[in-house]
Amino acid sequence: MLLRSEPWSLLCRGRKKKIVTLVIVLMFLINALFYVALVLHNTVKKRLENKSRYYDNNSYLDKNGMKVIVGHYIGGNNGGPLSDDEVNANNYAPVAGAGEGGRPVQISQRELITAKELFSLHSYNIVVGDKISINRSLPDMRSESCRSVEYDINNLPTATVIIVFHNEAWSTLMRTVMSVILRSPEQLIKQIILVDDASERAYLGKELEDAIADFPKVHLLRNSKRTGLVGARLLGAKAAIGDVLVFLDAHCEVTPGWLEPLLERAGSDDVFICPHIDVISDDTFTYTKSIDAHWGAFSWHLHFRWLFPSKEVMKQKEEDPSKPYPTPAMAGGLYAVRKSLFWRLGSYDEGMVIWGSENLELSWRAWQCGARVEITPCSRVGHLFRRRTPYKYPGGVDHVWNSNLARAVVVWMNEYADFIFKFNPQVAAVRDKQQVGERIELRKNLNCKSFKWYLDNVWPQHFFPSDERWFGRIKNDKGACLAASSSTPGVGGPASGVSCAGDLQLQGLVVFTPEGNFMVDDGMCLERGNGRVVWKSCNGNSKQVWEQKGPRIKSDTGLCLTIIANKSRDGVEDPITLNKCSLNRGQIWHFERVPWR
Ligand code: UDP
Ligand code: MN
Repeated sequence: MLLRSEPWSLLCRGRKKKIVTLVIVLMFLINALFYVALVLHNTVKKRLENKSRYYDNNSYLDKNGMKVIVGHYIGGNNGGPLSDDEVNANNYAPVAGAGEGGRPVQISQRELITAKELFSLHSYNIVVGDKISINRSLPDMRSESCRSVEYDINNLPTATVIIVFHNEAWSTLMRTVMSVILRSPEQLIKQIILVDDASERAYLGKELEDAIADFPKVHLLRNSKRTGLVGARLLGAKAAIGDVLVFLDAHCEVTPGWLEPLLERAGSDDVFICPHIDVISDDTFTYTKSIDAHWGAFSWHLHFRWLFPSKEVMKQKEEDPSKPYPTPAMAGGLYAVRKSLFWRLGSYDEGMVIWGSENLELSWRAWQCGARVEITPCSRVGHLFRRRTPYKYPGGVDHVWNSNLARAVVVWMNEYADFIFKFNPQVAAVRDKQQVGERIELRKNLNCKSFKWYLDNVWPQHFFPSDERWFGRIKNDKGACLAASSSTPGVGGPASGVSCAGDLQLQGLVVFTPEGNFMVDDGMCLERGNGRVVWKSCNGNSKQVWEQKGPRIKSDTGLCLTIIANKSRDGVEDPITLNKCSLNRGQIWHFERVPWR
């Protein structure tokens, strides 16, 4: 009989014993190696996942966890391999309690598979969307100070709410409409105009007409040909009888008290007033508050960005958190404006098709032509942000994007147009095809100010180059350059040497301001951190002030910017730190100017 403790002695005698021991040790080593490889693989995978969570081509979370949406979308596939039945079905089937209060909706593994299959239809989880009642409740999202503001609703101007849509999901569109009906004082709503921008989905035909039939103030207009959101909004605006036009995307949900602050401010006739935009998840439809302090602006490539507001705005917000505050640009989907101002200021550029850049055109036009763009923190509206655009773009998404952008740039940016065209050859290529005579005429007639005036006065914290700012490549004597790493634009992080870029690659170029700030795209400034030098949101702090002393760059502490020898001979990927000034080559920087336009 073999006892459990005996196998060794039994199997392993003399040389045999040694061999077996060796085999076992080897097996142990192989196992350990496998384990290490597995751990490494998981760590790398996790890192990559984190990275894509923080940055993909369309959005990333900034350091406050706020989703920053990048305005340049990837073209949609309009349903991909789905059948006609799937594309045209309305599967709205509300489940009691699902999503109430803005809470997330969980679905089963089986439903998850369907949701993934259908995702490309709308670029959001329609299986979840269809489970949530179109009348779902949402909490009051306003701050204490906003709740205590009283409005004289008998003296507020009235509203025409305009919602344009192209192939939107039935439930999402209807939830937008119902949220307006449920949460607006009846007397303030003159009309809710839905404009169908030539949708192709069957459920947006009679099924939609039936759904709104019981609401006399809800009207449905249909665009005979697809124009895009500009043409569709104009169709709605022409039919408006309210004093104020309130534009909403077709995947929004308004929350209690949303309308009054918009109407009160829009009454003044000199402002495009935006609500505070919260986030509806594209996956679970959770309603999440976005951070209190944000305003809209744009990157070097003119992609819309949410950024931290200026110090002045932050101070104002502290003093009176309920007061509307200025923003350099609006996101575009959601805003209110007095009808008379909308038309007086040239409504929209009708030459802009489908989607894109109309928000920047409108923002620049407003500011440059004597009006304002503001955000009221007391009106809170959720918008379903998506990572990918689900529509077809006639002529291709790039063509549409570049053409619209070229129009806005030519008409409004003055010498900054040269900057944009220089560094965006694809936009420059379509520049001459744009007929913008009427828009230039409009600008003249309205006696509008220059783009430089706009930057200097509306957005003095901007990070664009100018004639007063040095612009170019900053090259270390070892070879590497000083620039933000390409993997985390807009997020920041430790500064390292990067491969130097060509004259036409904005990614590798740096603005050096007379105030001593090194700025790169997305408002990132070089900052003296704890131990490491970092790229961080520009904030005017003395930690972000640098002085060029001969070939050296000194921080406010008198230490020298140093690329330390580590991985490579040329300093690429090597950390940038602060050291005592010396003869170290890592402290020698060559400033190579690049004309900014
Ligand atoms: N839209 C439209 N026609 C188009 C493209 C978009 O009417 O050709 C509508 C769309 O349904 C939405 C609004 O325009 O209500 C804004 O588009 P979207 O929400 O896709 O833009 P985003 O919010 O992602 O910037
Ligand atoms: Mn939208």
